[in-house]
Order: sequence, then structure tokens, then C-alpha cells
Amino acid sequence: MSGFSNMFMKSILFTISFGLCVLYASAELHKFAHSSKHDGSLNFLVLGDWGRRGAYNQSEIAFQMGKVGEKLDIDFVVSTGDNFYDNGLTSDQDTAFEESFTNVYTAKSLQKQWYSVLGNHDYRGDVEAQLSPFLKQIDNRWLCLRSFIVDSELVEIFFVDTTPFVEKYFTETKHKYDWQGIIPQKSYITNLLKDLELAIKESTAQWKIVVGHHAIRSVGHHGDTQELIKQLLPILQENDVDFYMNGHDHCLEHISDTESSIQFLTSGAGSKAWRGDIQETNQGGLHFFYDGQGFMSVKLTQTDATIEFYDVSGNVLHRLTSSKNLRSSM
Ligand SMILES: [Zn+2]
Repeated sequence: MSGFSNMFMKSILFTISFGLCVLYASAELHKFAHSSKHDGSLNFLVLGDWGRRGAYNQSEIAFQMGKVGEKLDIDFVVSTGDNFYDNGLTSDQDTAFEESFTNVYTAKSLQKQWYSVLGNHDYRGDVEAQLSPFLKQIDNRWLCLRSFIVDSELVEIFFVDTTPFVEKYFTETKHKYDWQGIIPQKSYITNLLKDLELAIKESTAQWKIVVGHHAIRSVGHHGDTQELIKQLLPILQENDVDFYMNGHDHCLEHISDTESSIQFLTSGAGSKAWRGDIQETNQGGLHFFYDGQGFMSVKLTQTDATIEFYDVSGNVLHRLTSSKNLRSSM
């Protein structure tokens, strides 16, 4: 079979498998197949820290996402967590799900699969509610798991549940967190990192992206997450991960790793923003920081990645491009 026919068959098989929520046995993490476009490219939007029943410019951002989503013919949307403020969902019957998600992201171009992780605010409610299949019956775009993988062959996206890494949430008394399924914390993290490392090592995708709620590097209000620098970053550095995408800080930012080619991208500006503070120290590798509301788009081909940050009016504030050679196996 010629190379072209082989690729054609692979693409057909991949198209058939999309939507079936394929679970591979090679790793513990659920892997979902999501086919690329016919020309092999893939486009998506990244949004974080959003669910406020349309307030704090959430609806305005949703409107601009709709416009950009249409222009780019997006394949899906990624949510970096803190999906429902202030305290997640109270149950899978909570009307906040429709009021902050279904009724806000109404544009035609946004009627695609959403892949979501949990943020710390989501852990303050009933965590299981956001993972419940019942939500998919209300709005079939919704897919939220603690940690999972989306594989389009062109790119593999590894979604990581970062809240359990952060020690202070286990000791603070101001808020109550729903740790069912997490405790004992140490073995939860050890197993997650083991599964993640194995899955990233096995990946043959041209692009490797890791998504979590908490920043590894940020100059915003919360700053760097030391637990992730220590435990997660080495795995990313050793396995040629291209981008780490997160929310948590209500801003847009782009920072380059000073020790590898990883680019740290924050998209946590889906509603409330303008915190007004920036970490003056530790700004090594900083290319771009914007304190206001916005979101991010990602365009991928075999050779090029283009990432753009938009404000509440749809203006492009910052653009990052990255190129690499075609893999010899392709
Ligand atoms: Zn957060």
C-alpha cells in the first residue's frame, strides 16, 4: 500500500473511531480520539476561569469566541478549569451548569466538543457532579474528567488534574474541598504522574500539549506553582512537550521555559479579571502578560503551530508561532 493510501486508510479508521470514546489499555488514562481536518490540520480555542452566569464580561468573551471559532472553523474547545464560580456545582442538578455554560456559549461555532479539567474552585463544590454523565444529557458538548488524553494523531493533549498537587488546599480552613477519590493524596499523585509519563513517552504525535488548571510558571496573582515545578515540569522537559496550557491566574500570558523549548501559556481570563498585580520578580522568559479578560486560539499543522491571544473586543494582543520539521515516519 502506498504511503498516501496508508495515511488515507488511517484517517478513515480514525474518523470512524471518533465519538466512540475509545479507551486504550496501554495506560490508565482515558484516551479520546478526535480526528483532525481532512487536510491534517486542527484548530481549537482555550478558555479558563469562566462560569459566572454571564457576568464580568463572560458573555462578551463568549461572543468573541463565537466569531473567532467560526473564522478558524474550530474542532473543539479546551477549558482550563474553574468552570463554575464560586464553589463549583452543588450537584449534577445545579442550574448553574446551564446558566453559566449552555446559555452563555451559544454561538454556532462553539457547538463542538468541550474538553474540561477541574480547577480549585470546582473542588469546593460537589466534584463528582462535574464528572457526571448526566450533564452530557443536558448539554452534549460537556466532557470533564480528572485526567485524560485527547488524541488527534497530529497532536496529543494530556489533561492533568492539578488541584490535588497544591499542598495549601489540604491545610487551609477557609474553604472546604471535596477530596473524595483523591485521598490518600500521595498515592493519587504518584499514580497520576506514572500514568502521564508512560502516556507521553508512548506518544508519536507531532505536537504534545499538556493542560492543567494551575500554572507551572506565571507572573500573575498566584505566581508559579512550586509543586508542579518540582513534580510535573521534569516529565514535560524530558519528553519534548511543546506547550503547557493553564488557567487559575485571571490573565493571558506567554512565558518560555529557560531550560527547554516548552512554552507556558495561561488562558484564565474567561470572566473576572483585572486583578491589578504582577510578580515583579521571577520574570525570566516572559514574552507577554495581559491582566484583562480574553481567550486563546491554537492552530496546528504538521509543521506549524500558531497561537493567538484575544481581548474582550476580539483584538489579537499577542501571537506565538512555532515550527518543526515533518517527522520522518510521516
Ligand atoms: Zn483557580
